[in-house]
Amino acid sequence: MTPINENFGKMPGSYLFSTVARKVAAYAAAHPEAEIIRLGIGDVTQPLAPAVIAALHKAVDEMGSAETFRGYAPDLGYSFLREAIAENDFKARGCAVTRDEIFVSDGAKSDSANIQELFGADARIAVCDPVYPVYVDSNAMAGRCGDYDAAAGRWSRVIYMPTTAENGFVPALPEETPDLIYLCSPNNPTGTALKKHELQRFVDYANEVGAVILFDAAYEAYIVEEDVPHSIYECEGAKTCAIELRSFSKNAGFTGLRLGYTVVPKALVRGGASLNAMWARRHGTKFNGAPYIVQRAGEAVYSPEGRAEIREQILRYRKNAAVIRDGLANAGYTVFGGVNSPYLWLRTPDGMSSWEFFDWLLSRVNIVGTPGSGFGPSGEGYFRLTAFGSYENSVRAMERIGAVRR
Ligand code: PLP
Repeated sequence: MTPINENFGKMPGSYLFSTVARKVAAYAAAHPEAEIIRLGIGDVTQPLAPAVIAALHKAVDEMGSAETFRGYAPDLGYSFLREAIAENDFKARGCAVTRDEIFVSDGAKSDSANIQELFGADARIAVCDPVYPVYVDSNAMAGRCGDYDAAAGRWSRVIYMPTTAENGFVPALPEETPDLIYLCSPNNPTGTALKKHELQRFVDYANEVGAVILFDAAYEAYIVEEDVPHSIYECEGAKTCAIELRSFSKNAGFTGLRLGYTVVPKALVRGGASLNAMWARRHGTKFNGAPYIVQRAGEAVYSPEGRAEIREQILRYRKNAAVIRDGLANAGYTVFGGVNSPYLWLRTPDGMSSWEFFDWLLSRVNIVGTPGSGFGPSGEGYFRLTAFGSYENSVRAMERIGAVRR
């Protein structure tokens, strides 16, 4: 018999969002008259910015002519895009990240799932709890997480760092020493963000114990507060301990177009090996480059027109976040996030579990959200709503929530 990867057999049921989708589909089939408002999954709804569309059209035309046709893209990304990223996302913020430390990809989901390949089979991971599920699941598939306790919703080898209202959504440094520390700021799902000194504490700790931080900044574009860093490289010493993951999905609406990048500093060395060289080797072997037309679209995000148009889109989502935040607070809910983030994180009322509240909200007011327990054990008793819907739906959803008695 062909041996299989036994770790898949340990994985809990299905991916969180598949379970939500299945439940919503069943409800919709049973209640065809229900006007369901979906504030669950973190997908954008506004169309691509005109500057991005223009760049796509131009690049498509180039592909149709022998003189300008492009075949395989460079594995690590076209220079025009890597330079635009280095200049705008880093140099402009005083971070010394160079073009050859930037690896262009098809998005942060694949990068955040694949990056663990650089590390040993017995590396211990630490994650914020609750957290974007991909970090834990990808390590579990690689056999690093031990066994899953379904009742507790915990893996035996994962170091969970509770990130809850009790600690102001700032995790304490882990008690056991990890090899890899996943941090996401602004965080999905809590919608909260780490301040510079809070992130600096993790950087200092990682340098001290020799751990590597995997910093996911997919929601960087939503930061408004001054003391919240946009990049981990704003912290001193981060280049010797941190990898940063970025995405074009939530800042420029590329969820369907697919583009992201990862920064692996040259100064990041573990076990005598350059992680930058290892990631270049891995990328070169397993990835044949993001499409030319998509990389041109990514370049347009940094053009003056692109920047202005995208700022406008983010403002709209931010306006939705404010509507939802105020609506929930007025309806008596305890709500967090939604300031530096498109996510709102609320406490479930009356001691309901996250899934009980999911069912209640769907059946009583036909609103879909995401149960907090799906993001980790400390997410139990919380619930996530997103600001990625339309303004009208955000307002309607809050009217519905405000109108029902719990
Ligand atoms: N990282 C976080 C924290 C996310 O919430 C998401 C998507 O929801 C991603 C990464 C995935 O981004 P991408 O669309 O670039 O794959």
